[in-house]
Amino acid sequence: MNNLTIVKVGGAVVEDPTTLNTLLDDFAAMQGNKLLVHGGGRAADKLLNRLGVEIKKVDGRRITDKETIDVVTMVYAGLVNKNIVAQLQRRGVNALGFTGADLNIILSHKRPVKTIDYGFVGDVDSVQTEVLFSLIEQGAVPVVSPITHDGRGQLLNTNADTIASELARALAKSCGVTLVYCFEKPGVLMDATDDNSVIGTLTYDKFKEYQATGIINEGMIPKLDNGFDAIRAGVASVVITNTDGLKNGRGTRLVI
Ligand code: ADP
Repeated sequence: MNNLTIVKVGGAVVEDPTTLNTLLDDFAAMQGNKLLVHGGGRAADKLLNRLGVEIKKVDGRRITDKETIDVVTMVYAGLVNKNIVAQLQRRGVNALGFTGADLNIILSHKRPVKTIDYGFVGDVDSVQTEVLFSLIEQGAVPVVSPITHDGRGQLLNTNADTIASELARALAKSCGVTLVYCFEKPGVLMDATDDNSVIGTLTYDKFKEYQATGIINEGMIPKLDNGFDAIRAGVASVVITNTDGLKNGRGTRLVI
């Protein structure tokens, strides 16, 4: 295997059936080896609400207590993952859905408690690339849900942007990897209200400058930190874009 494209698809795209259909059409049409990583935050919130489990967040980050890890596992590894697998199979893509626990692909540890206890949240320790390689070489298209394990029987909730970056970094040691973060906007914007203000090329220094001035904020900050980690670790290309970007190649390209 020489090249691989990793597409990470964000919460808002996955949860709207129309945008998900478009994304999966475009993903199915992509040539070459590919792998999909998905999030699904708001779908978990809906089920947590229906089950009467209190949603706890600090600065937008979920506190994953015992009941919450059960529910996010059901939603991410179950409903969201298997729906994507079925929708890709319908399109003739031989999708294989799994979590980081399956085949021991992503091993993590529970985030240590400093000021905040995030609960059952996993920080990645290692990625098993050999098994992924052989699955992809046999024609499987992996669909990875953001659940990992600690090797001692505990499932852990892990940020999907981080999973995409960790997979890209590990696989880049053996092949050319393109990482595409696909969300609801056409790229990193200079003005959040103007879709025509996409930053074509973003350096790390500019990212930090725009973060300081507030142009880049919230979920875009960890997404870009993950993206720049990938570039630094030898991932050939990292692009932030929307579903259209999978077809036309537009979006924000990260450079160091
Ligand atoms: P995902 O949909 O992949 O889960 P997040 O919601 O975590 O992504 O992060 C993306 C969010 O970042 C967007 O919803 C957007 O509102 C926000 N954002 C902050 N700054 C910017 C910016 N400069 N350009 C585009 N989006 C931005």
